[in-house]
Amino acid sequence: MSLTQIGFFEGGQRLQMTESIELTIQSLQAYGDGHPHWGIAWSGGKDSSATLTLLIHLMETGRIQRPKTLTVFYADTRQELLPLSIAAHQIMDDLSERGIDVETVMAPMDKRFMVYILGRGVPPPNNNTMRWCTRQIKIDPMQEALSHRLAQFDGNVLMITGVRQGESAIRDRRIEMSCGKDGAECGQGWYQQVLPEAKGLRGRIATLAPLLHWRVCHVWEWLKHWAPQSQFGDWSTAAIADAYGGDEAEEINARTGCTGCSLTETDTALDNILLQPRWSYLAPLKGLKPLWRELREPQYRLRKAGAERLKDGSIAKNPQRMGPLTFEARLMALDRILRIQADCNAAARALGRPEVDLINAEEEARIRELIAAGTWPDGWEGDEPLATTPLDIVYQDGSIQPMLLLEEY
Ligand code: SF4
Repeated sequence: MSLTQIGFFEGGQRLQMTESIELTIQSLQAYGDGHPHWGIAWSGGKDSSATLTLLIHLMETGRIQRPKTLTVFYADTRQELLPLSIAAHQIMDDLSERGIDVETVMAPMDKRFMVYILGRGVPPPNNNTMRWCTRQIKIDPMQEALSHRLAQFDGNVLMITGVRQGESAIRDRRIEMSCGKDGAECGQGWYQQVLPEAKGLRGRIATLAPLLHWRVCHVWEWLKHWAPQSQFGDWSTAAIADAYGGDEAEEINARTGCTGCSLTETDTALDNILLQPRWSYLAPLKGLKPLWRELREPQYRLRKAGAERLKDGSIAKNPQRMGPLTFEARLMALDRILRIQADCNAAARALGRPEVDLINAEEEARIRELIAAGTWPDGWEGDEPLATTPLDIVYQDGSIQPMLLLEEY
């Protein structure tokens, strides 16, 4: 059966899908041929999973030429939604059976999301200025893994990403870092932009986003209906599609992200998963997002008391900024997350379903060890006042206004 014969889409949409795949083939032929070694940055989310499975299907059917080597870098953030993590492991088994090299990439212990927040006390990411997570748990580990493998790739590798911007991509060819646009997958734009310029990799890797022009409904269609069929590779991708909503393309709006991502307005992917009876026992995970929000409140954090001097002697832009989480706040949050985990897993055991792994024993031990050692983020000593303490207001020019009530920063 050819790509055009598949019958799930009606007329125009099927044609668009076929055209999208044709453009993907053309981009891989045009840019891939110059690189003997290919890598793929795969998170287990929808865009990168569609990219990975389509790429291998196209190779297996001879639509594109195989490179000398293909290495799949699986970015395991330890924050994946359970059904997506299970699907990723099934796909990894499929890849191993095909003899494809898979390297799991993970942040070192102290940089992992939970350990960094609860052990070191860095507040949960909440907006683009405090968005430390994507770089730390996705980009830096990928960069590190690539650096280690460069010699094997003769110092020249084409890194394939799942960055996708829909039809506008064809018009403007501009890659955005945003992961909110058209439900794009968190981190993919960063792989595309940051990796080629990274220290140690500069000029030695190229990136290609062969699904750049795909619409989100096509990604969903591929994962749900095409890829699971034997003629397209028999991939375990349907569960990934299910995390993004219903059968109607218009409904698909969720972006892939961490369980309880603290940057999104809503938990759409988790909500979609909970609507499926077999995953409803994961409902306690809904407690994560409110917890991250709560931890941003001043009663859980320290604050710089006065003007903060930078190394050059100038005053920092935001005097009296709020900072890290107190030890009490961290222990409270640790206890709450462990309870969420225990509740999910008690239900899982009763139902004979898979268990969640939010914080494993090694991570819990490290969090407690860091707290016991009195660990604070760089630039903080732990003797700063609690952020709710009334203080005189210090302005950026160094002037002080005595006041009882502080504005929120
Ligand atoms: S999904 Fe959310 S929490 Fe996870 S890395 Fe992306 S922005 Fe950060």
